[in-house]
Amino acid sequence: MSMAPFHSYFRDRAFNEMRTITVRGMPGLPDGEYGFLESYCADATCDCRRVLINVVSPTQPGVILATINYGWESVAFYTKWLGNADDAAACQGASLDPFNAQSVYAPLLLDLFEATLQDAAYVQRLRTHYALFKRAVQEQQRTKRPPTRQKKRRRK
Ligand SMILES: [Zn+2]
Repeated sequence: MSMAPFHSYFRDRAFNEMRTITVRGMPGLPDGEYGFLESYCADATCDCRRVLINVVSPTQPGVILATINYGWESVAFYTKWLGNADDAAACQGASLDPFNAQSVYAPLLLDLFEATLQDAAYVQRLRTHYALFKRAVQEQQRTKRPPTRQKKRRRK
């Protein structure tokens, strides 16, 4: 499953609608702004219904402070999709990604993200972004011309 950032297809929307949290006086986490940057699966035929979140901060440009997987569907949905209840349980909800960048703050940032999920409007926004993203990927695949059949350019 190859993930691509939401902003690679919807640049303005991605940054306008990225959830940011301002932290003040949270033990163990430096004060400042934290942003949840979204990536989605770029396979047009796959309906995995998950998001990969990179937690970033303007005080540390280019650094990924945590990588979080989040699946908003039920365990039953992921069991059907994966064919395995154990993998499905790992897919559902929010967790730190074992294969991608983390920092010492990652566990606290996961707490912060989970608290943000209490906002139903945010979860709905992620679902909407996922749907938009999948449609864009599918559209791109449909309109991709085979390289051998290039149209001749007309001269003006
Ligand atoms: Zn997928």
